[in-house]
Amino acid sequence: MSFNNLGLSAALLKSIQEKGYSKPSEIQEQAIPEILKGNDILAGAQTGTGKTAAFALPLLNRLQNAESKRRRVRVLVLVPTRELASQVGESFRDYGSNLRFKTSTLYGGVSINTQIDKLKKGVDIVVATPGRLLDHLNQKTLNLSELETFVLDEADRMLDMGFIRDIKKILNYLPDEKQNLLFSATFPKEIKSLADSLLNSPKRIQVRSNNSTADKVIQVVYPVDKSRKRELLAHCIKEEGWFQVLVFSRTKHGANKLAQQLNKEGIDADAFHGNKSQAQRTRALKDFKDSKTQVLVATDIAARGIDINLLPQVVNFDLPYVPEDYIHRIGRTARAGKEGKAISLVSADEHKLLFDIEKLLKSPIPRETIEGFEPTQNLSTEPPKSKGNNRRRSSSAKGGDKTRSSKGRPSWNKKRNKNTSSKNKRRS
Ligand code: ADP
Ligand code: MG
Repeated sequence: MSFNNLGLSAALLKSIQEKGYSKPSEIQEQAIPEILKGNDILAGAQTGTGKTAAFALPLLNRLQNAESKRRRVRVLVLVPTRELASQVGESFRDYGSNLRFKTSTLYGGVSINTQIDKLKKGVDIVVATPGRLLDHLNQKTLNLSELETFVLDEADRMLDMGFIRDIKKILNYLPDEKQNLLFSATFPKEIKSLADSLLNSPKRIQVRSNNSTADKVIQVVYPVDKSRKRELLAHCIKEEGWFQVLVFSRTKHGANKLAQQLNKEGIDADAFHGNKSQAQRTRALKDFKDSKTQVLVATDIAARGIDINLLPQVVNFDLPYVPEDYIHRIGRTARAGKEGKAISLVSADEHKLLFDIEKLLKSPIPRETIEGFEPTQNLSTEPPKSKGNNRRRSSSAKGGDKTRSSKGRPSWNKKRNKNTSSKNKRRS
């Protein structure tokens, strides 16, 4: 399959070539012709599968050279985070580099007036986070009455971040007659019902199962005592010469503290999380992408969607409470078919979190003990004993691990807990 057979214009084929894409990804191959036809889409696809081009290319194709005399917002893309908004906006500009149209990116934490000025001049495409978009709609600085296509990207993440009500409010501002495209990695019940009410006989697209991205990532667990994690991380960074390392920490405070401690050890590290100003977030990410910062310690806000070219290394300093977040975290590496490594520093008290992740992956993650960092409390390979859906940290698993090898296969026959979405509300 080549891009030439998908029905895209010569101008777009040229920019695809300039991007260096030789053939469409699975989601692109399936979604582009349907979107060109004007159909609604319900797409299940993991991170790193090329979703942005899957919707941006056909929508740009339809826009072609937008009428500069009467610009109106024809495409709205809703995304969960500011970084993602800025990245998707960039992608539209990239893919449409041989076309004439205007894109506006709307998110919080930056001046609304600058955004209003740009909107007044007229734009064709808006990429936005829910909070700031609603501000514009409430203030009537944005008119979506002539919208042609609505794209909801990373819908499950929107739900996790508590945006579902905002989305419903936004839908009231949109015309009934329009094309709707919904992209989500997972389909919890709230997303299913949103899809039912929003989409009009959608074409369903599902590209490979949950762990297709995970398959390309070399994963390993380093069992270690909780109190020695930082030391082990610093050791690996120095000894193994890790360069661009994205380290995930569960909490903002933890991310700050870890970055500071690494700095003290002479490692160039920066923190990235929702309590930083937007200017700080933008700079931290840019410096990291430009290889000016060696280590970026981030909360899960960086786990979705963010595309860092050739990121070789992801470290889980602690495991996420929601097993799906693990897949999103490690999906930051091994992008677009490249290789990558994901290392998780796991202490005995995280046994249940690890078990849930392995159950989701349907395979165990190999354990490797680092010399000099052998844990005093072993990481159990037995299924956790705790019952119910108490996902918050199980009581520490005592003893148990005699084999400590990847052979200790957990059993997968137990039903997974359904209640996995974390409802940590964050405004964007
Ligand atoms: P997703 O939204 O599914 O997480 P992105 O749209 O961010 O994925 O794309 C992931 C990466 O893959 C980006 O670096 C993008 O430039 C690259 N990419 C997308 N489509 C192709 C393609 N057809 N060939 C090669 N690389 C691609
Ligand atoms: Mg994406």
